[in-house]
Amino acid sequence: MRIGFADCRIAQATDLMVEMRHLNCWLDAGMHGTMTYMARNLEKRIRPALLAEHTRTVASLAVNYFPRVRQHPELPQIAKYAYGKDYHPVVKKMLHRLLASLRNRYGKVLGRAFTDSAPVMEHAWAERSGLGWTGKHSLTIHPRFGSYIFLGELFLDLDLEPDTPLANRCGSCTRCMDACPVKAIVAPRVVDARRCLSCLTIEHKGDLPPHLSLHRQLFGCDICQNVCPWNKRAQPTLIPEFEPNKALLEKTADEWMQLSENEFNLLTAASPLQRAGFVAIKRNLGIL
Ligand code: SF4
Ligand code: SF4
Repeated sequence: MRIGFADCRIAQATDLMVEMRHLNCWLDAGMHGTMTYMARNLEKRIRPALLAEHTRTVASLAVNYFPRVRQHPELPQIAKYAYGKDYHPVVKKMLHRLLASLRNRYGKVLGRAFTDSAPVMEHAWAERSGLGWTGKHSLTIHPRFGSYIFLGELFLDLDLEPDTPLANRCGSCTRCMDACPVKAIVAPRVVDARRCLSCLTIEHKGDLPPHLSLHRQLFGCDICQNVCPWNKRAQPTLIPEFEPNKALLEKTADEWMQLSENEFNLLTAASPLQRAGFVAIKRNLGIL
């Protein structure tokens, strides 16, 4: 049965102590900004058993979302992950199909599916399982599909043979750090969310810092991924839900400005732009 995942790798479900130390340093430095949820449920983030009691194995999965078209660079930019429909229900459904097929094969299997929906350290599991490595921009890079991937996890009570973690293949490259227009990548694998345009345009509520330039980014930011050599060979996704929404991608700044709240909601129904919402998008436009 083909479900549509780009890859799946297996890690033993141990506590994430090393990753926890890095997370604590990042939180202590205040780099999570207004994303206060990052400082909650820390125990659950490191102990898989606190999210699913019988977990022995974590299966880490990648879903390719690289789009077949690009926006005109002078239009208000939307991050590629938001070109189509919201990935949460799409990836969740795929994970549940996989869990059902495991139950067909192994009988009773206890398991839980996650995709950016609970305090799960997704990039840590991707790295531990050998699905990819964490690039200097702090995102997972798959050796074949690059970084335009959604991650999902199955926490399982099965004992499956773990895969081998990959070596980090960034080498001496610093393209993402050099390209970031707001210097948010303050050290390899450390992004200061208080500066990052992706966090500011999507997650930040209320006013944005004075004198901020959004560098044409309306919702999210892909600049550090666009320059990454590991994305050069990315192939367009075949998942229909991620088909680009032309009406969204071709809007000019003036057309965005004229949208009423009703029109915005119709245009972005089932789209990740709903996470920011009408008020934040208008705020971002005002700055653009
Ligand atoms: S997403 Fe944009 S702002 Fe954030 S680190 Fe990458 S290039 Fe910088
Ligand atoms: S641009 Fe270079 S340093 Fe940054 S993630 Fe890609 S390979 Fe690593």
